[in-house]
Amino acid sequence: MARNIREAMIQRLEGLEGAGVTHVPKGRKLPDTPPVAQPHSVVPQVGTAEGGCATRESPTDQRAAALAEVEREVSACTRCTELARARTQTVFGVGNPCARLVFCGEAPGADEDRIGQPFVGRAGQLLTDIIVKGMKMRREDVYILNILRCRPPGNRNPLPAEAAACREFLDRQLEIIQPDYICCLGSVAAQNLLDTTESIGRLRGCVHDYRGIPVVCTYHPAYLLRNPSVKRSVWEDIQMLMAEMERKSGRRRAEDGVVPVKD
Ligand code: SF4
Repeated sequence: MARNIREAMIQRLEGLEGAGVTHVPKGRKLPDTPPVAQPHSVVPQVGTAEGGCATRESPTDQRAAALAEVEREVSACTRCTELARARTQTVFGVGNPCARLVFCGEAPGADEDRIGQPFVGRAGQLLTDIIVKGMKMRREDVYILNILRCRPPGNRNPLPAEAAACREFLDRQLEIIQPDYICCLGSVAAQNLLDTTESIGRLRGCVHDYRGIPVVCTYHPAYLLRNPSVKRSVWEDIQMLMAEMERKSGRRRAEDGVVPVKD
């Protein structure tokens, strides 16, 4: 009898395991019906009750799925006829879907168009150095994107109509990622995002706002490669950004009631 019960329980547990149940609460009745897995096409809405912590997916999974959905649309986009015809591929963006910090450049160049990722090549390596050596973060901790997702021929600046056409994708990416800060790299990115004609020299050194997200502007890494004399200015901008981020972290810790431990 005991042997029959044991075998029946093993069989039941194996069935639950096969259905994705990883543990059974102690002292509780086994569920009659195993939970049904959600189809992958059902993407929870980020920032809604439906997409909150009640689902089994982590916030990172939810945001990655939502970003993948937008990326699918971008890869088929032909709003800018000239760019869509000339591109090798679209360059959507790369990084942590839950990043606190988003770097925004202007548009893919030849290397980015070939590889399909923003900020590769020498300028990309310099940006990595700024993130890793300067900010003591990892490149995969941040998210990197551009104003445009297609390369303008000959690396010309984005036309206003192209930037306007691609803005919807940029905004949707930012809505999903919900960063605490944006860092604009170069005048084209800063002017487009902030809708201004001010020079980068005048835009840097203070914190701007884009839809409630604080924005810091600095020189583009490619400009820094050509003009090493602005290195000090870039470092000042990055230090200001880090101080802002640290201040926000401190405020969050205080709101969460975490008391710093004194030495
Ligand atoms: S730049 Fe943006 S809007 Fe224009 S074709 Fe590419 S993805 Fe579409």
